[in-house]
Amino acid sequence: MDNSYANESIKCTVYQCKNHCSSKDNCSLNCIQVGTHECNPTVDQCTDCMSFEKK
Ligand code: SF4
Repeated sequence: MDNSYANESIKCTVYQCKNHCSSKDNCSLNCIQVGTHECNPTVDQCTDCMSFEKK
């Protein structure tokens, strides 16, 4: 997969993700899914990028 595309609308610093842009702090996907692993999320740490894929 070509990860040279940097989606300027999705900034991301998760370099361990397969979908991370190869040259900038952005996601290379056109869109992502965000979700939560908590019943009642209260802080940002409760949210997750569900489009994350291990490199
Ligand atoms: S899929 Fe999610 S975690 Fe992976 S690079 Fe894109 S925004 Fe970051």
